[in-house]
Amino acid sequence: MPSTYEVTATALNLRAAPHTGASVLAVLRRGQTCVGSGAAAGGWLPVSYLQQSGHVWADYVRAVDGVPAPSNPPPVVAPAPTPVAGGSWVPLPSNPQTRLSDPAQLHPKFREALVNLLAKAAAEGRPFRLFEAFRTPERQAWLYEQGRTRPGGIVTKAKPWQSFHQFGLGADLVLFVNGQWTWSDAGVLGEHWRRLPKLAAEVGLRSLSWEAPHVEWPVNLSEAVGADLLGSADNTWIDTLSSASARWRASGHSGGPDLQPAQRPELA
Ligand SMILES: [Zn+2]
Repeated sequence: MPSTYEVTATALNLRAAPHTGASVLAVLRRGQTCVGSGAAAGGWLPVSYLQQSGHVWADYVRAVDGVPAPSNPPPVVAPAPTPVAGGSWVPLPSNPQTRLSDPAQLHPKFREALVNLLAKAAAEGRPFRLFEAFRTPERQAWLYEQGRTRPGGIVTKAKPWQSFHQFGLGADLVLFVNGQWTWSDAGVLGEHWRRLPKLAAEVGLRSLSWEAPHVEWPVNLSEAVGADLLGSADNTWIDTLSSASARWRASGHSGGPDLQPAQRPELA
């Protein structure tokens, strides 16, 4: 049965195939509708729009004819980091609209605290899930533009490399209710949001008064690649950071840590 979906993002790409590398057939704006043509798979929903068939990211639409959007919890947009042939660098998405939610890209100390936080929340019946983890500096710049040089409300105070997300030391936890992400604080949901900073403090994480979903490792960013965190890092974290920093610098920007990819012993 076809269902109608409304776009909830500012702009949403209709792509020819279900991956971020596929060509863009059309850009749908917030409030526009498209018609579903099947079940979502891997986070992508097949739809038709103005007689064109393609795929959109299912998180950015909602069903408007009573049929719940087949949103898959919790979506991981990019492939898990894998060593690239000939080096230890990890591929990072070039599309700044791509949200990453792979806990493997977070620093191990922060990740452990985050796991404890989610366990505490779950034990109290509070349905928080990891919405966004590591964030590329390109995406940080794109988010910073929103409400400043691009339409929409302001969503961040941080420029690239001013956010803990770029260092794998920050994450956003969002309520996932009835198959959908929600930022609502109506009724019991408000109790969940008020409880989150208290639970975060219990596991040693810092919250921000102005950004309810955000938690971070309680250091200054100048310590992000200091002796303590470098000494307790794993290869995926180092490779993610060094890849992001190298790409950022290679595109002519300044900022980002001067960090080499992790050295792995050669295979015998
Ligand atoms: Zn955040």
